[in-house]
Amino acid sequence: EGTGRFIVGGNWKCNGDRASVTALIEALNGGDVGDNVDVVVAPPFLYVDQALSELKSPMQVAAQNAWVEYTLEDETHHYDSDSGAFTGEVSAEMLEDMGVPWVILGHSERRTLLGEDDTMVGKKVAHARFHGLSVIVCVGESLEQREAGATMDVIFKQLRAVADEIDDREHSSWGSQVVIAYEPIWAIGTGKVATPEQVQAVHAGIRQWLKDNVSEEVSKATRIQYGGSVNEGNCETLARESDIDGFLVGGASLDATKFAQICKSS
Ligand code: PEP
Repeated sequence: EGTGRFIVGGNWKCNGDRASVTALIEALNGGDVGDNVDVVVAPPFLYVDQALSELKSPMQVAAQNAWVEYTLEDETHHYDSDSGAFTGEVSAEMLEDMGVPWVILGHSERRTLLGEDDTMVGKKVAHARFHGLSVIVCVGESLEQREAGATMDVIFKQLRAVADEIDDREHSSWGSQVVIAYEPIWAIGTGKVATPEQVQAVHAGIRQWLKDNVSEEVSKATRIQYGGSVNEGNCETLARESDIDGFLVGGASLDATKFAQICKSS
């Protein structure tokens, strides 16, 4: 069982425009997400700066991705600088420079649509930690993998890639600054939420893996979010499970009232 504070993330994905982002921030500021919960919202990059300056504390801002220099031929660390000839990318050091405290990494949409593999996600996590960013790292299986009984194998492989890159000597430690979001791909944006029992079983497996492969301390301190069609109607039942320490919310995070209700479900 985890010991950390409940944490709810809002992943706005590639949605919104100047007017709707402004309205959403205003609505969030006017609402009540409750105490005793960490709240993190992730606008598209272009609106991150606006959210940083307008979103009221204690709500915090996340980026939805960060670049890390990585090619298959050269698997060495590049912790000195990740700026350079990477057209279209935004680096972790830029996020640090702008004062963005959080970053979501390894979202399944980036893994499947943009081809990010486990190793790349592991390197991104370690690199973001090196720049002092707090990280929400997403893991999860496809429907095909679940039906083949491979769910935990897939997740353990994704976690292994992170654990292999995080190196306390390079100040890229775990601790409460790395949050794991369990997001079964078949439940993302589908309206098909995993059952509390399904989620609890996976979360308990993740926590046991952390205990066996990282440390007991990290297994207790690490918050594990569930993501996949979470809404204001199903959040309370899910939040009762002992190893669900929060949610990562897509669709419902674009509605300030629904999102606030989810934040208060702990
Ligand atoms: C997500 O994108 O992280 C997500 C969980 O989306 P949704 O809540 O829309 O299923």
